[in-house]
Amino acid sequence: MQLNNGIDIPQLGFGVWQVPPDETAAAVTTALETGYRSIDTAAGYQNEAGVGAAVKASGLPRDELFITTKLANPDQGYDTALRAFDASLAQLGLEHVDLYLIHWPTPARDLYVDTWRALSKLYADGRVRAIGVSNFLPEHLERLAGLGGVVPAVNQIELHPALQQREIQEANAKLGIATEAWSPLARSTILKDPAIAAIASAHDRTPAQVVIRWHLQQGRIVIPKSVTPSRIRENFAVTGFDLTDDEIATIDGLENDGRTGPNPATFN
Ligand code: NDP
Repeated sequence: MQLNNGIDIPQLGFGVWQVPPDETAAAVTTALETGYRSIDTAAGYQNEAGVGAAVKASGLPRDELFITTKLANPDQGYDTALRAFDASLAQLGLEHVDLYLIHWPTPARDLYVDTWRALSKLYADGRVRAIGVSNFLPEHLERLAGLGGVVPAVNQIELHPALQQREIQEANAKLGIATEAWSPLARSTILKDPAIAAIASAHDRTPAQVVIRWHLQQGRIVIPKSVTPSRIRENFAVTGFDLTDDEIATIDGLENDGRTGPNPATFN
């Protein structure tokens, strides 16, 4: 799918939060063998080196891969962000990343505007193909857009059937920012929901496949995580069926403000 600067991102990628550093290369290798071409890591996950090792070992051409990493909160600020980016590249063993995100706005620290200027410089210098944000609320997005420079390509937010963040999705759309869903399976808790199980059985699919399909059909980028090879493959096998409008409406009806992670308004 195309981002607002014209570059393409695979709509379905592979996330590696909480994958232990010494297991990351194996999980990413399984993902690449399965067919995933987009990997989502972060400096804060401390497993960028494992991602880089798997990329290198795969032998896949660099331009067939889409690698995202994120700036950790303590590194916000102009100079610190530039240095942190160099450190991430060194960990990954890459010459550039495809997407670099500010991990959290941490609004009370009020550094995200300076940080955004640093990311804009990295983008202007061609060291990253797109820049974006994560966990940004509409007011934070408006402030960045108001600078008159580069508008974020992506806003990666917690989003799953129990927390659909419609207001943020609308703010993203209004500004031309793609919505990327983190914890798209609500860390697996949503998979036990009877309504999702019923839809899965109607399609002879699994609950995880139905939830990923729900994201894809609504135009979001989605990055499920698993360290289990069979699940890594299961989560990629999400073509060849379509949810009906009624089924999508049923899943839309599961919203219950079910946040699993921190609230970006107060997470500093
Ligand atoms: P997910 O919603 O992707 O769920 C992952 C959990 O679900 C794991 O426990 C996994 O188990 C399990 N699981 C995965 N597939 C299946 C399946 N087919 N059947 C049953 N269980 C399954 O949660 P994450 O929080 O990991 O989010 C995904 C990615 O989003 C992260 O890895 C990270 O890249 C990103 N993220 C970004 C954040 C941000 O602030 N920007 C915050 C949080 C996440 P197992 O691994 O044991 O197989």
